[in-house]
Amino acid sequence: MIKKVLTIAGSDSGGGAGIQADLKTFQELGVFGMSAVTAVTAQNTRGVHGVYPMDAAAVASQLDAIGEDLTPDAVKTGMLFNAEIIAAAAEAINKYRWENVVIDPVMIAKGGSTLLQQEAIQAMKEVLIPLAAVITPNIPEAEALTGTQIHTEEDKREACRILHQMGARTCLIKGGHEENGDYSSDLLYDGQAFYEMKSPRIETRHTHGTGCTFSAALAAELAAGRAIRRAAETAKTFIQAAIEDTLEIGSGHGPTNHWA
Ligand code: PLP
Repeated sequence: MIKKVLTIAGSDSGGGAGIQADLKTFQELGVFGMSAVTAVTAQNTRGVHGVYPMDAAAVASQLDAIGEDLTPDAVKTGMLFNAEIIAAAAEAINKYRWENVVIDPVMIAKGGSTLLQQEAIQAMKEVLIPLAAVITPNIPEAEALTGTQIHTEEDKREACRILHQMGARTCLIKGGHEENGDYSSDLLYDGQAFYEMKSPRIETRHTHGTGCTFSAALAAELAAGRAIRRAAETAKTFIQAAIEDTLEIGSGHGPTNHWA
């Protein structure tokens, strides 16, 4: 039977990130995609023009509609915007006992727009992170969640330990935002061992939606029954190929190519 994956995330009218990136990635990886929309963003490759959050009750209603009929084999969360929507997502995950939960703690778009209110960070730590099979922060997100500064490999390890202590079963910090080096190095920690995934850094401005695409690929692989390391490796290969082959559409930051 085909595996089903749910994304709880925001809509990107430009089609490069958010729900749109997730559903394209699910399709590409052979799983059936479902979605609960948390916010509508008006954006294109040049940036975000507007953010229109859904009522938390509308998010809960979408999640109940899915929970009463369809059982996702994995769930990913992306842009959640505020504490009320975080609470609605956590409540549904608990109520329907959804597993393989991938938390992509989306906070700020590359252009600087707020995708998670500052005061919602605490709610994310308290109610959502403990439900995570894996959390996939980039460096700034890991710093915001752990209250640490990440400059060295040891800093990255310490942030992983803190996120694991907060309740995430696995922590995967993405190295894409590191400024140094010819490599992008992701670090995975399952509470026992660290596992590093390195790939050559690709110089491009077309990276819109990379985080969304990576976490969607990870969720698809977990739904298919892959163990976490193997799922992370496949997701890494997928996003690497997508960044290498980005689409030069629009006049700003093009999206990663989901057909890679
Ligand atoms: N818009 C939405 C709805 C998103 O969920 C995200 C990222 O998670 C972004 C925009 C950010 O895109 P970018 O990769 O350009 O930072």
